[in-house]
Order: sequence, then C-alpha cells, then structure tokens
Amino acid sequence: MLESKADTRQPQATRKAFWRDSVEDRRRALMPFLWGTIAREGQLLGNVDVGSQVLVTNPYKISYPGYHELLNGFPSDTIDSNKRVANPNPTVLEWLHRRPTFQDSVAAYCSWDVFPFILNRERCGFPIDVGEMGESPTLIRRLTADLPSPWQGSVYDAFVFHAGIEYLREKKPRVMYFAFGDTDEWSHSGDYDNYLESLRRTDAWLKRLWETVQSMPEYRGKTSLLVTSDHGRGDQPGEWRNHNSKTHGASYIWVAAIGPRVAGHGEWSEHEPFMQAQVAATVAALVGEDYKAAVPRAAAPLPILAEPSQ
Ligand SMILES: [Zn+2]
Repeated sequence: MLESKADTRQPQATRKAFWRDSVEDRRRALMPFLWGTIAREGQLLGNVDVGSQVLVTNPYKISYPGYHELLNGFPSDTIDSNKRVANPNPTVLEWLHRRPTFQDSVAAYCSWDVFPFILNRERCGFPIDVGEMGESPTLIRRLTADLPSPWQGSVYDAFVFHAGIEYLREKKPRVMYFAFGDTDEWSHSGDYDNYLESLRRTDAWLKRLWETVQSMPEYRGKTSLLVTSDHGRGDQPGEWRNHNSKTHGASYIWVAAIGPRVAGHGEWSEHEPFMQAQVAATVAALVGEDYKAAVPRAAAPLPILAEPSQ
C-alpha cells in the first residue's frame, strides 16, 4: 500500500513512521502496547500467520451483525444490516448490569450512533455515550460538536476516549465498554496514512487506559482489559478498504486480553479456530460471572482464564 499513490498521500512520512524490514518490527512500530505488553504478559489470539484463528460466524462481516455476535454471544437471526433497529436481545453488558453487584456500574462510550440501538438504550438501563452535547456540555463535548468527523453518524475516537476516561476516573464503573471507529472509517475512505496513524493512536489510548486503571486503587490488580473487533477486512491487495460477506479476510478477527484473571499465555498458535461469539461469555467470566449458564445460546468463554489460585 505504501507504493500506491491511490492509497497514500504521504508515502515518505508514512514509510518512515511504520516501515521496518521484519514483520515483527513493523507490527511493534504500529501497535507497541499490543505487541510489547499485551501479547507478552497477557494473551493474543487471531494471528492467522501462525495458525491462530478467531472467526466471525455471522455471514455478513459488517458492524451491527458483528457487534451482535460479539456482545450477545451468538449470531442474530434478524440483524443483517447496519440499520438503526433496536437489538431484541440483551447484550452481555445489559445482562451484567442486571446482576446485583453491577447495578449502575456499567457504561459504554462509543463513536458510532448505532450503538444506542445495538446496546438498546431504551431497555438496557446503563449510560451509552455517543458524543451528544447533553444539557450541560463539557469542553470535550463542545469540541466533539465543533470538530465533526468527515463521516456520517460517528464522532472522532479522540473524543470517545477522553470523555470515557474522564467518566472512568469519576464514576469508577465495574464494566466499561469503549467502541472506537476511526480505523474502519479511514480505511473505507481509502486513506492508508490515517488508517495506520489511527491504529497507532488507539494503541496509545489502550496503554493510557491500562496505566490509568493501574494508578487507581479501585482497579489496580483486579481489572482486566479485553480488546477485539466486530469484523476483519480484506487481506488481498486493494481489498484492505473493504469488509463484507464476499471479502476474503473479513472473517478473521483477533482478541487481546491482559489482567489478573488472564493467564500469561502470550500469543496463540496452531489451534482449532475460536469464534467471535465466545467473547460475550469471556467478558462475563473476567468479572466472575457465568453468562452461558444464563443464556444457553451463547458460546462458551475463550480458554484464556487463569486457574483460580488456591
Ligand atoms: Zn466498516
């Protein structure tokens, strides 16, 4: 892509920032926290080059069906597009919020305005922030409104991250969900420079998030971080912009996790494929809850949890 004038506006600067001779050095230049910390001290699943697959099992390979599979633990029978339709099924976040010890302790900060439907704002009972001004807007929210993204229906991730981390510091929820969208938007726009930049920026936010929770006694040593994706993208030249049912590569996602309940397994290789649908029960298991027992349709948790200490 670095050679393609159609994809790259600043080939020299992008090459300098991200090109390295080996794939190991390139991926560390792109996402240093993911590769340097999570993949070493936690777990990383989904590197197809070493025989690790996490598969999207819904046939659409687009966002809402992917988020349904991810957050509900099974592919939807009815959600087949990104239309703003309220999710009929409670997500694992809503299920957790109904558990006694999670009441008023779940929150979601999202860049995409379909999340109030995916998470079902009318029913779910926990706050879902998608960058609206609200009644007494903060500076971040005024900037969100005054610096609109070029894309329909989503705000820049920087506003999601900074508003969300402020909420985390102040309210200290037990479960916090961030949903970022810049990488997907830049790649649909065919802007490879910004695609790479936004990956690196998101990686830096994950690091900041992890360091923030380690700096707070409420979270330190008892908090897990799980990072994943609603779909893959094309893995053929020229296909990196796209993802749908016909795109080769769009079925492959990855899951990264770190924390005291995550075994220090490192990067997975050579195993039977895992599924996107396993993420919902994994999230519940990381906070000590059995989602599959309550929702039998949901897939089993990923086998990433540490054995409980005696
Ligand atoms: Zn997309």
